[in-house]
Amino acid sequence: MAVREIVTHPSPVLRRKAQKVSDFGPDLQTLIDDMIETMRQAPGVGLAAPQVGVSQRVIVVEYGDDDDETKPPKLYAVINPEIVRLDTETELGTEGCLSIPGFVGDVDRPVSAIIKGMNRRGQPLRIKAQGWLARIFQHEIDHLNGVLFIDRAEKVWKLEAETEPASLD
Ligand code: ZN
Repeated sequence: MAVREIVTHPSPVLRRKAQKVSDFGPDLQTLIDDMIETMRQAPGVGLAAPQVGVSQRVIVVEYGDDDDETKPPKLYAVINPEIVRLDTETELGTEGCLSIPGFVGDVDRPVSAIIKGMNRRGQPLRIKAQGWLARIFQHEIDHLNGVLFIDRAEKVWKLEAETEPASLD
């Protein structure tokens, strides 16, 4: 496994529609392993292949349970992911992106989603995601369609430097 370089906005690969995967051979396995290592090292809770410069429909997500922080985070690698159902109810959440360092924005997204796809061996997968996990999947699948959170955000702002702002009083 190896940590790959994360591509940042405005690289054209982030704007391309990624290709469907049909070969589940060693190259794909290496890509997935490298993406997992890159995501963990960043650290991030998700990563899409275009973010490491590979225009293929592959995402990895690693996230724990919103309601039970004692549970270890669950790791997903999804090939050719598709959103098959989105909640009609939406909520605003503040998102960031490893490809847009230093910025965050408020994005309105459905609160739950059903995702279909394949695991790394090419077997069918169906995931019911809620809350923050649903948001991560939507954000990562957007990447495969060349969409970035700044396109959807109602407001984007630059994160302040590490130092705390001066107190008002
Ligand atoms: Zn992102």
